[in-house]
Amino acid sequence: MKTPHIKDLMKFLDNSPTSFQAAGNIEKTLSDKGFVKLDETQPWKLASGRKYFVVRNQSAIFAFVLGKKKPHQTGFNISASHLDSPGLKIKCGGDKTERNNTKLAVELYGAPIISTWLDRELSIAGRVMVRIDDKRNRSSAKWESRLVNLAEPVAVIPNVAIHLNREVNKGFEYNAQNHLQAIIQASGINSNPQTFKDIIAATLGVKAYQIGAYDLFLYDSSPALRIGADKEILVSGRLDNLAMTHAILSAIIESQQADTTSAAIFYDNEEISSMTPEGADSSFTEEVLHRICWAQNLNNEQTMISIRKSFLVSADMANALHPNFPEKYDPAFITMLNHGPVIKMNASQRYATTADSSARFESICEAVQVPFQKIINRSDSISGITIGPITSSHLGIRTVDIGNPMWAMHSIRETMGVYDHEYLIKALTYYYSQSS
Ligand SMILES: [Zn+2]
Repeated sequence: MKTPHIKDLMKFLDNSPTSFQAAGNIEKTLSDKGFVKLDETQPWKLASGRKYFVVRNQSAIFAFVLGKKKPHQTGFNISASHLDSPGLKIKCGGDKTERNNTKLAVELYGAPIISTWLDRELSIAGRVMVRIDDKRNRSSAKWESRLVNLAEPVAVIPNVAIHLNREVNKGFEYNAQNHLQAIIQASGINSNPQTFKDIIAATLGVKAYQIGAYDLFLYDSSPALRIGADKEILVSGRLDNLAMTHAILSAIIESQQADTTSAAIFYDNEEISSMTPEGADSSFTEEVLHRICWAQNLNNEQTMISIRKSFLVSADMANALHPNFPEKYDPAFITMLNHGPVIKMNASQRYATTADSSARFESICEAVQVPFQKIINRSDSISGITIGPITSSHLGIRTVDIGNPMWAMHSIRETMGVYDHEYLIKALTYYYSQSS
């Protein structure tokens, strides 16, 4: 089986260390493919057959391709994913130098597997507010938001030697306040320690006093790699959920204009509960859907009809059977790498899939000969939650929760199958060509 999208996926993973860089890369791809950027603070004029996108907070994107028919006739075919990944966020202004070691204090962002972050060559990325006036007069300060990615590894969170922590292999709880500070400098006695602001300012080509508040994260600088006897395994950071994002993006770009309006939504902040203006639990989806309808002169009732006729594929990575931990899974629901996308179901609706929405996704896969799998967790374990139930309960849109199977979800280095990526792009491209 050919894997034409994997190289581009790997490039996207390597160049998207945070949701800000991911959104920036998506914006560039969409612009290159003829999508026009809309501003939420301005009136919209939409032309039939054209393609558009909206960016919120530099970290969430809503892209759409207008259908040949109006939304109240067909509804919207929507797919959604998230751009953020669990990790360590640098405390703004929390750097300090002690005994010539410069350390960055961090907070947990979401729920990373903490031990995987130690002894790694870490880099730093995110966004920084930069003063663009040339004076130090605070009353006239003007700020510009700049994306920054150091790219080179600059930091490490070293483990303590086993001789000083003999019990470490019996399980050790890392304290986020004390044990996870990242070392960015171990200066010699006579050298001048650089501050963290100095390093960021040098990267951005500005002076240290120009650096204001920032949203910066540590990330693993190791690039994505294909491994396995047939190079069928992909290991990388942030597969959850940049892999699903890349699949949706590829599908909406490659699909032909259909009767139905296609939409691709990439949220931020799923890993911290989605309750932000750019998260799934916000006005973003509803506002953009309404405005697409209103810009085409649909009245309120037609707008509501448009939403009720819509369908959402909520795509977030799924857990594959781990060969070393088979007891963690219901033996009747075994999902495997490279066996196709997984439909997720849960009685408590922590996944939004219903029998009805599952049937639609199954028929999409069958139409293009894509294999699919189903997962229901063990009855004595609690499932995760994702963007599907949040979006569907707010808007009343029929939703299926799906995701490609992976190992080590929330590790700094996650693992997936390359064929599943191709399968899902094929299924989603067909989905976008369908009439609801
Ligand atoms: Zn996820």
